[in-house]
Amino acid sequence: MAREIPRFSCEPGCGYCCQVSPVTVFPHEVHILNRVVERLGITARFRPSYRIVDLVRRVKIVLTYIMDLNPATGRCPFLGEDNLCIIHNRYKPVTCRAFPRVPRVIQYVIDRYNRRLYFTYEIGISKICPVVRKLYDDYTIRILVENPEVAKRVMPEEYRACVEFLTSRAKYLELLTVLWREGQVELTEDIGYPWPLVDAYSFIRQLYPEITIWFFMDTQPRL
Ligand code: SF4
Ligand code: SF4
Repeated sequence: MAREIPRFSCEPGCGYCCQVSPVTVFPHEVHILNRVVERLGITARFRPSYRIVDLVRRVKIVLTYIMDLNPATGRCPFLGEDNLCIIHNRYKPVTCRAFPRVPRVIQYVIDRYNRRLYFTYEIGISKICPVVRKLYDDYTIRILVENPEVAKRVMPEEYRACVEFLTSRAKYLELLTVLWREGQVELTEDIGYPWPLVDAYSFIRQLYPEITIWFFMDTQPRL
């Protein structure tokens, strides 16, 4: 009889992945998290990461940010002393909700010939997670990566968040593609232009004011 793949569930109070590496967040998430930070009175730093250039407005459009670990403690600024996420019930970044199911090897493609912006990726299951190491061998991990139906059953929340991660990113790129084809922007790689940074959410809102944070999200934050 085929062995049932055990359902994924975090170990209570683990918090290991919150102390290992910075977290990628989207521009709309920076807007949400800055409000959360203000309310909680804590400090979090969001560093611009991948950006592209708009030659029309002479700005760099930031598509992703990095939320750094606290340099003094090596922990995420939202990780409580009990190793629980203090923003779990407010707004948890989609990267965290998807973990250990992670889109990786993300490559942005700026297709100037077709005036199209898109990305390619691979899905992985991170073995830094102790539950993954305990429950799944390499063969099972491969099944979880390659078979969406199994993944939906074994790690439903993480699967859903991973889809949100990919969909949000695609929405940014699709909107910029539309603007590019309309001639409102002229996009190219950032090769060191000394131009100001603008987050992609604010940039898009200048041109499409009707687009709100909800457009990019599946989850309703409770600020
Ligand atoms: S995803 Fe894995 S590493 Fe992260 S808190 Fe849960 S059990 Fe720990
Ligand atoms: S936001 Fe929460 S889940 Fe994400 S790394 Fe920080 S403490 Fe962990």
